[in-house]
Amino acid sequence: MHILLMGPPGAGKGTQAVRLVKQYNIPQISTGDMFRAAVKEQTPLGIEAKKYMDAGQLVPDSVTVGIVRERLSKDDCKAGFILDGFPRTTAQAVALDAILKDIGISLTAVVNLNVPSDELVKRISERARLENRDDDKPETVQKRLTVYEESTKPLIDYYRNSGLYVEINGLQDMEAVYHDIVKALEK
Ligand code: ADP
Repeated sequence: MHILLMGPPGAGKGTQAVRLVKQYNIPQISTGDMFRAAVKEQTPLGIEAKKYMDAGQLVPDSVTVGIVRERLSKDDCKAGFILDGFPRTTAQAVALDAILKDIGISLTAVVNLNVPSDELVKRISERARLENRDDDKPETVQKRLTVYEESTKPLIDYYRNSGLYVEINGLQDMEAVYHDIVKALEK
């Protein structure tokens, strides 16, 4: 199971990824989590990434692709993975294709969680209250949604005709979303 989980900020990718990890016993590879860990440890990568994250912008492709390449080359990815939050630009998607080719892996499915933007704003503000993430401030949230629309949403077209693309209604409750994802994966 080499799964790509896509969707706007607040769509519920992280929540679903955690359940898929348990179900299929494969690692979750979240570029957002990797960057947050680097920020916390104040590594050079973290210091660089934080500038972009706090502004609601994407970390540059060269940096992001580098960490993903390194992570996907580890042995635990051979049997499967859930890529959560990567790719987010067309350049990242092209780079991912090359990485996968190099390591001899092909994707099983590209799962897109579809949630309208008014609902996303509601969900992210709720999360801001609970988790206190630096990038969940209202002005940053708006920026992240704009970046999604401009840079990431076009990726739907990149994958739509691949035969791997599945769209899931992310407005349903968590359980129903999960059920739909598993159903699509096991088809
Ligand atoms: P969300 O999906 O809620 O926006 P993430 O945890 O996936 O949150 O990402 C948080 C931030 O980390 C992003 O706003 C961006 O700055 C950075 N980031 C994560 N993944 C990528 C990526 N693939 N490319 C560039 N930047 C990324």
